[in-house]
Amino acid sequence: MAPEPSDSLTAFRSAARGWVESNFPPSLRGRAPLMGERDLDEPDFRTWRDALCGLGWGTPTWPKAYGGGGLNRDEARVVREEIRRAGGWNPIGWTMGVRMLGPTLLEFGTEAQKLEHIPRITRGETRWCQGYSEPNAGSDLASLQTRAEDLGDRFRVNGQKLWTSGGHYADWCFCLVRTDSSRKHEGISFLLIDMRTPGIEVRPVRLISGASPFCETFFKDVDVPKDNLVGPLNGGWTVGKRLLQYERQRSEDAPVRAGDSRAIEAVARDYVGVDPHGRLTDADLRTRLTHHLMERRAFDLTMQRVAANATTGGPSAATSILKNVSSKISQERAELLVELMGAQGLGGGGDGFNGYEISAVREWLAGKATTIYAGSYEIQNNIIAKRILGLPDPQT
Ligand SMILES: Cc1cc2nc3c(=O)[nH]c(=O)nc-3n(C[C@H](O)[C@H](O)[C@H](O)COP(=O)(O)OP(=O)(O)OC[C@H]3O[C@@H](n4cnc5c(N)ncnc54)[C@H](O)[C@@H]3O)c2cc1C
Repeated sequence: MAPEPSDSLTAFRSAARGWVESNFPPSLRGRAPLMGERDLDEPDFRTWRDALCGLGWGTPTWPKAYGGGGLNRDEARVVREEIRRAGGWNPIGWTMGVRMLGPTLLEFGTEAQKLEHIPRITRGETRWCQGYSEPNAGSDLASLQTRAEDLGDRFRVNGQKLWTSGGHYADWCFCLVRTDSSRKHEGISFLLIDMRTPGIEVRPVRLISGASPFCETFFKDVDVPKDNLVGPLNGGWTVGKRLLQYERQRSEDAPVRAGDSRAIEAVARDYVGVDPHGRLTDADLRTRLTHHLMERRAFDLTMQRVAANATTGGPSAATSILKNVSSKISQERAELLVELMGAQGLGGGGDGFNGYEISAVREWLAGKATTIYAGSYEIQNNIIAKRILGLPDPQT
């Protein structure tokens, strides 16, 4: 049985609820964006972001000294629950600054780097992109060839990155570069690069859907101050891997996806229909839906246990397990949803389909990428085998 909340936590919840009710714009209710960036220009979105971030509650557990909320884990959970209760979401919770770079910089950055970058991330002012993958370095990331030459007072960067999500609107890029060609993993460094620096060219990659969510990013004689090196020279692999663990950690602030805005059981009842006992008329779908709901519930309970047992608050290699399980569950959910809709689950746009149906189909398509980005499903299995189960590495 869950322990009773303390009096102070109950009082905190009551204050948080009052604050959210007064500050969350009703026009945004239930409109969690698919990508955190979508609604950036809407006045109500900005009002909500500025109000929440003004308290540091967009990054509730980060230190107050850098603009965070300074809350403990229980208080942060209460804030999250009260925002969800009002139909809202954390407007910066899904950004790369908050999910990936911020926690990494808090761990590895110099005081000057933290003071320069963390407060702007907590206010949602800077947009970050990730310069990891290259044409010949995806799963084998340590093969990366983008070179940073040491010119004494600065680095000169030359090379190409690929699949840079949001590169076309990013202000800054956290980037893995090669600073020593004679060693593989030990020749990599982690740099922060201002995307307005001369010599950077960003070309959006146009997909078959017409959207361009990610880019090719070219660096030609790009000068980067030495102060922008995070961690030791040639020690970037450790910093970069840690950032990947933060990326793979399932964000509790993740916005509710479009297809998630209705309970899947309610969608099933509407589209498939029920018998006189209130059961779904299709026995096969009924079994699969039940199985999915049980898996989902078990996963949520596992996540709660992981959070409760976490002593340092930091992620570990176990995030690879959670990433693989959560991406499979979300793919199964998306698959089930379009199947439940029958012919109405075939439209990615156009007349004849309502907004919910279209977003469910798009979510189903977009969900295919969850087992690729942040390290593919197979690569996570390799990490689990090596780092958690202690099995021998087949490549050595
Ligand atoms: C939506 C999306 C957004 C992305 N955003 C970014 C971004 O912002 N920044 C960035 O740097 N990158 C980004 N990526 C790139 C992503 O990190 C890579 O796609 C991913 O690491 C896989 O690399 P790859 O595409 O080169 O595939 P490959 O490495 O060529 O892999 C191809 C297939 O082979 C399998 N495979 C490869 N090696 C092994 C092995 N040793 N054992 C078993 N199987 C193996 C893989 O699992 C995969 O199925 C994004 C990708 C997607 C899909």
